[in-house]
Amino acid sequence: MSSRHVVVVGGGIAGLTAALRLAESGVRVSLIEATARLGGKIRTADDGIETGAEQFLMRTPDGGPSGAARLVSDLGLGDRLTHPALSAAGLWVGGRLQSMPPGTLMGVPGFSAALDGVATLADDDRDLGVPVLAGQDVAVGELVRSRLGGEVVEHLVDPLLGGVYAGQADLLSLRATIPNLYAALQTAHTLRDGVGASLVKRSAAGPVFGTLRGGLSSLVEALTGRLLDLGVTIHYGKPLRSLDDVDADGYVLACPAKPAAALLPAPVAERVSVLDYASVGLVTLRLPGAELPQLTGFLVPADQGLSIKAATFFSRKWEHLSGQPEPAVRVSVGRYGEVGALALTDEALGEAVQADLAKVLGPLPAASAVRVTRWGGALPQYAPGHVERVAEARSLLEAEHRAGREAGPKPVVLAGAAFDGVGLPVCITSGEKAAADLGEFVK
Ligand SMILES: Cc1cc2nc3c(=O)[nH]c(=O)nc-3n(C[C@H](O)[C@H](O)[C@H](O)COP(=O)(O)OP(=O)(O)OC[C@H]3O[C@@H](n4cnc5c(N)ncnc54)[C@H](O)[C@@H]3O)c2cc1C
Repeated sequence: MSSRHVVVVGGGIAGLTAALRLAESGVRVSLIEATARLGGKIRTADDGIETGAEQFLMRTPDGGPSGAARLVSDLGLGDRLTHPALSAAGLWVGGRLQSMPPGTLMGVPGFSAALDGVATLADDDRDLGVPVLAGQDVAVGELVRSRLGGEVVEHLVDPLLGGVYAGQADLLSLRATIPNLYAALQTAHTLRDGVGASLVKRSAAGPVFGTLRGGLSSLVEALTGRLLDLGVTIHYGKPLRSLDDVDADGYVLACPAKPAAALLPAPVAERVSVLDYASVGLVTLRLPGAELPQLTGFLVPADQGLSIKAATFFSRKWEHLSGQPEPAVRVSVGRYGEVGALALTDEALGEAVQADLAKVLGPLPAASAVRVTRWGGALPQYAPGHVERVAEARSLLEAEHRAGREAGPKPVVLAGAAFDGVGLPVCITSGEKAAADLGEFVK
């Protein structure tokens, strides 16, 4: 092992992966985690139901194996990999549970998408002889509204983006949230052409999503075991407040924006701390004897008069959970800027959710168990310009380090959802990239 020592701040999936790759390269690694447990937004409950992240994309937008698929295989967990038993999801629009129209990218329809009964399509997606975008970032909602109309935003894009970010399409950056569409629109002359080009790239064979039998916490356990085998020291239960508190030859910051900003020099912190977060609540209900539709679950647009925004039928969607005696449904509430539902007590929230669920599914058996999980400030809201701000933050950090290479500040690199995207695969790739970048400085 080299005499060089690096500190990784944050024991979510990005920090764990960065620590793994650095330790594998031979440097001494310490991992500092603020809470008493590792995994961050990954947490499987004792009954096997996820209370945070549930699944990961199997492929990159270009069709290669995703960071998560690679990590699962590197850790020898390939035999636990499983995929959804169904792919059809529902959409609650106009008082009916309808099928989610195929042929959309995060709800943005391509030419093949049939939107009957879901949204009326405006016909303003004209080819003006130039690419739709010329480098500039835009809010997803603004772009889709201007070309395909407001209903497409409200009934499709918002619920799908809201399912991932708990955010509103009108406030979220296209470049940060649907990067492959952003890239396609630098050459495509219409929005629907851009969607078509992105969907073609994504359509490699094989399942879209995967998870692990035994739950995603088993990925965290396997990672932790590998880190300990490699001699990584793990410190639990104390947030790092200043880099001066731990001596190291370099640092990976893999924590959310606010705690990361507190560890960064002022000009970098300014760019990082502007990132805002949405809070979400998940209510998992056990419904003995319930006959659930043959769907993975359903999404609810904000204008349909319900307080729930999505439901996942865990016992239908995942074969390894289908044998459980009481079907499990996980319902999510909470959109960026709306805290009403989250302000309810657990009991009141459980009741409100069951009442909404019954409006969609019809009369339901009384729940035998209700579990409420609250994730305060959990989902980053990337505003337009986010990608550029993060690039500036990184170049400032690199310039600062290079300027005073011998005696100056120690190198600091950034990883995880505060910077590179929310999905598990993206956070894993971000942790790997941070490890490689820091490795360049800490040889
Ligand atoms: C409810 C929910 C459902 C989701 N579902 C999915 C899904 O199905 N699929 C998917 O791909 N993604 C999903 N995501 C997103 C994904 O889980 C996250 O984006 C990803 O796990 C973030 O990983 P991370 O390592 O960047 O950050 P985190 O998981 O947030 O980890 C950061 C860690 O840093 C620690 N920390 C904070 N401050 C400090 C400090 N000062 N010192 C030391 N440690 C500190 C925190 O305690 C935490 O452990 C979901 C997210 C949520 C909230």
